[in-house]
Amino acid sequence: MTLLRAVKGMNDVLPDEIGRCQAVERLFAETMARAGFREVRTPTLEPTPLFVRAIGEATDVVEKEMYSFEHHGEPLTLRPEGTAGAARAYLEHAIHAKEPVTRWWYSGPMFRAERPQRGRYRQFFQLGAEVFGDPGPGCDAEVIDLLVGFLDALPVTGAAVLVNSIGGKQARERYRDALVQYLTPRSSTLSPDSQRRLSTNPLRILDSKDDKDRTAVAEAPTIHEFLDADDQAHFAALRAHLDALGTPYAVDPRLVRGLDYYTRTLFEIKGAEDKLGSGSTLVGGGRYDRMVAELGGPDVPAFGFAMGLERLLLASGVDAPGRVVDAVVVPIGAAAQSPALALGRDLRRAGIRCDIDTRGTSLKSQLRRATALGARFALILGESELREGLVQLKDLDAHSQERVTPEVALRSIPDSLRNPAGGATAPAEEAP
Ligand code: AMP
Repeated sequence: MTLLRAVKGMNDVLPDEIGRCQAVERLFAETMARAGFREVRTPTLEPTPLFVRAIGEATDVVEKEMYSFEHHGEPLTLRPEGTAGAARAYLEHAIHAKEPVTRWWYSGPMFRAERPQRGRYRQFFQLGAEVFGDPGPGCDAEVIDLLVGFLDALPVTGAAVLVNSIGGKQARERYRDALVQYLTPRSSTLSPDSQRRLSTNPLRILDSKDDKDRTAVAEAPTIHEFLDADDQAHFAALRAHLDALGTPYAVDPRLVRGLDYYTRTLFEIKGAEDKLGSGSTLVGGGRYDRMVAELGGPDVPAFGFAMGLERLLLASGVDAPGRVVDAVVVPIGAAAQSPALALGRDLRRAGIRCDIDTRGTSLKSQLRRATALGARFALILGESELREGLVQLKDLDAHSQERVTPEVALRSIPDSLRNPAGGATAPAEEAP
């Protein structure tokens, strides 16, 4: 029989790696909660037209990367990103009628049929956030600064923030025309993909990694010449806020992002290029003031970002917690099994993480497993301990052991765990 394997580009995350994932997720949840963001969970599967409308028909994601299928005649897509679903939920539940500003964060799997490589997968996890209802550059600056603090705390070294403004709809249309005018006489020097983009989505040519395209756009006009006065004021205020906060950034006038929904502010954070390769972004985001209206809702401005969990893990030095459990209960012989189960239950009730080895194997093999689990204590229940109502409490770090009552063990273990330097010495006298 052939062995079935995971779908290409989709990874198992085994328990050894989960600790690091959880550490990143926990820090993210804490960072966002501290800034008044609340978690939202939206479905992994959404109606296909949601993404076509929100992300844009002529984008790589919608054109080539979506996992779409029909189920009973309904077109469905595994979400390639989180913003469209969040905006749909925001609208569907009329959140705009309930609160003037909404701050949500999310995390979960996203799906894109891209060519898998290091840091690029077909199922990947994103951590992201959206602010609905705040049109101002202060919001943009606050969120970017929040992210810089998050990356610092992970830590990711060498994080570099790039910002740009692509203006509103009209500025973008004017710029699009100017770009087409500039590139059309040079179209034979473009890559085949970009020759096609010239008629479908010319702004994407700026984002191309192809050397030929890079040369062709090097001298092209930039969007900044086409921004409205309001767009310019927004961008200037964003930069002033970032300056005032001391948040380092660079302006990249050629920064465009793959999703069509952005207006005004765009930003990316790159980092750890040694581990991820150049051109690999950790975070992408920006303002999408038109999306809620384009999905059929009122005019609600919005700002958001998403970052790939896998890339954060590749880039950061975050450590996994080493211990799987604090203690292991070791029954020796069949008669010790039930008392061991009861002792284990009491330990857990006292807040001690504990594994019970019920295989009925030798003391030696059970202790080997206790060490593999990183346990600090082994509570051994042998024949004589059972007879005397005691337990052999072995401190695997300090290499000491003593026979104590289960009550004493239950009281002394938590103290020792709080104070890892101290031994598990039981109090001399029982408390009254
Ligand atoms: P995007 O939704 O394309 O703006 O991407 C935002 C972030 O999600 C990127 O900066 C990456 O960290 C991550 N990301 C996007 N696509 C992938 C992918 N195929 N595999 C892993 N991470 C991804």
